[in-house]
Amino acid sequence: MEFVEGQYEIQSLKLTALAEKYGSPLYLYDTANMERQYQRLMNAFPGVRLRLNYACKALTNINILKFFNQLGAGLDAVSIQEVQIGLKAGFAAEKISFTPSGIHPEEAYQAVGLKVPVTLDSLSLLEKFGKKYSSSVPVSIRINPHVMGGGHAKISTGHKGSKFGISFQQLPQILDLVNQYRLHVRGLHMHTGSDILDISIFLKSAEVLFDVAGSFPQLEFIDMGSGFKVPYKPGDYETDIEELGRLLSERFNQFCDQYGKNLTLIFEPGKFLVSTAGYFITRVNVIKETPLTVFAGVNSGQNHLIRPMFYDAYHHIVNISNPEGAVKPYSVVGYICETDTFAWERELPEVREGDYLVFLNAGAYGFSMASNYNSRLRPAEVMIHKGKDLLIRERETLDNLLRNQIVHQF
Ligand SMILES: *Cc1c(COP(=O)(O)O)cnc(C)c1O
Repeated sequence: MEFVEGQYEIQSLKLTALAEKYGSPLYLYDTANMERQYQRLMNAFPGVRLRLNYACKALTNINILKFFNQLGAGLDAVSIQEVQIGLKAGFAAEKISFTPSGIHPEEAYQAVGLKVPVTLDSLSLLEKFGKKYSSSVPVSIRINPHVMGGGHAKISTGHKGSKFGISFQQLPQILDLVNQYRLHVRGLHMHTGSDILDISIFLKSAEVLFDVAGSFPQLEFIDMGSGFKVPYKPGDYETDIEELGRLLSERFNQFCDQYGKNLTLIFEPGKFLVSTAGYFITRVNVIKETPLTVFAGVNSGQNHLIRPMFYDAYHHIVNISNPEGAVKPYSVVGYICETDTFAWERELPEVREGDYLVFLNAGAYGFSMASNYNSRLRPAEVMIHKGKDLLIRERETLDNLLRNQIVHQF
């Protein structure tokens, strides 16, 4: 987003004009930003065969998937539905990686039926898979490295008490099953959490995978998940991708020499690829002065952007209607009938009823976590691609809310 002659724009399109054209609340995505992030990661790992699988749970609109497919990315899917959307978006089955947690075995078999590679995350599933397919379907295994990472307890997935993966300490049990059923283990996988700043977390857990890898002679790839942090606040830090790339590439190549084969290094970024590309535009319904604070109540709520209430996440807010107004503190809240606070006492240029407030970092885990709570309609989504705005999801209507309900006579 640029500030040009008193107005905010993306790819030279004025944000207030887009808000007027499509109405609000509105999710906007800038594909130029996504492409920059993708290329930055691709360039950060010198001398390594790298593949990036876009973790589409962050933002699952099929047009975004198609966009990443034409960039050359693979896809990381965590449900059979994401697998199916990925196939519909045009991804080749072998470029989709199915890395779910705690699924019913049937869901894994369904992915096999679609020729999509599956990552197994429990001894129980490993055994069932082995019985059914033996060596005929290659698999990868998700290892829990017992490393604590992540910007919030709810998004930490690699520590000892986490439900994800199979503990590296259970390697003997894994090997028993692999030998008993002659499983063909093609890859090792881990994902330690989201919003991880400290690159030593990635380096430490990589060592666990490199250790474990020695027991699996048929590996083709090591998949390190993702969790790269992006800046949310002005002046905020982000994962030092270039430094991580330099250190990890060197170590990975060393490991490959030791292993005796050049493996592919995979990452599955969601947030890193789409967070900063997303903008959520809302409009102020009401300014309410109270003895304690001045509320700016917008025409949205935690139903559309849950991260502040769910993860205590900071989302920067910009008043695009009055960017040069006198700065004052406002508590920006939603219209949901529970406390849904986007920001408490945030300094903003004077906010008036009718102003558009834009939430930044709305690309990842914004729309994809939106709900219809309070029977509210979910927003429209617009993609800004090659200087043009494309509507990629219509705003919902009352019909969408009632569609699957069966009305009985009483
Ligand atoms: C959510 C998830 C990711 C992406 O995490 P980000 O923090 O958005 O990069 C990657 N891999 C798996 C298995 C996931 O569940």
